[in-house]
Amino acid sequence: MDLRLIFLGPPGVGKGTQAKRLAADKGIPHISTGDILRTEVEAHSELGNRAKQYMDDGKLVPDDLVVDMVAKRLVQPDCNRGYLLDGFPRNTAQAAALEGKLAQSANQTDKVLYFSAPDEILIKRLSGRRVCPACGANYHLETMPPKTPGVCDKCGTELIQRPDDSPQTIKNRLEVYKAQTHQLTQQYASAELLVNVDSTGTVDEIADAVARCLEL
Ligand code: AMP
Repeated sequence: MDLRLIFLGPPGVGKGTQAKRLAADKGIPHISTGDILRTEVEAHSELGNRAKQYMDDGKLVPDDLVVDMVAKRLVQPDCNRGYLLDGFPRNTAQAAALEGKLAQSANQTDKVLYFSAPDEILIKRLSGRRVCPACGANYHLETMPPKTPGVCDKCGTELIQRPDDSPQTIKNRLEVYKAQTHQLTQQYASAELLVNVDSTGTVDEIADAVARCLEL
């Protein structure tokens, strides 16, 4: 069955972790605009160079750059049977652009999963997060530590803290989410696509909630 999903929610809510799991489970591509942009920044591509400062400041990268990037990704053959969008759309203009693209191909979004947790939890998760710069695995100093401190379990690379997980940038990202992204929940609720996922629990508890709301 084709499955076109959007994962929506504030930074630090754990949607990336859930997105990786579910996409692997369902055999659909996990399209994280944050991951694609970080790869572009590392490659010093033109897109990456243009996006870097916005990302370091915790602001949204301009819509034209992101919409174009997603449009190119969605026409790849691996998206024919569906995909999981993580971190896109992030404002009403991006949501409209996505709808336009889907209408062209007579496809539609099946569900929007809205992950939520109180700010204190988000801040704790973001400030304790460590990532592997080589394979992209995520850890948390307290709740999901690697077996050897500071080293990726999967590939042995030294873990880093994302530059935008600094306290000031975390604050900016939460503000940007509230000002620009959160309103999409109303739009998708009106379209009867929105499903709430309580994301205050453990990774496994949230995964169970995801499975329940998709009736897996
Ligand atoms: P994320 O990994 O989803 O937290 O994204 C990290 C950063 O990438 C964000 O703070 C933005 O600067 C940028 N970014 C990711 N997705 C988008 C998007 N859909 N629109 C604009 N900027 C984005």
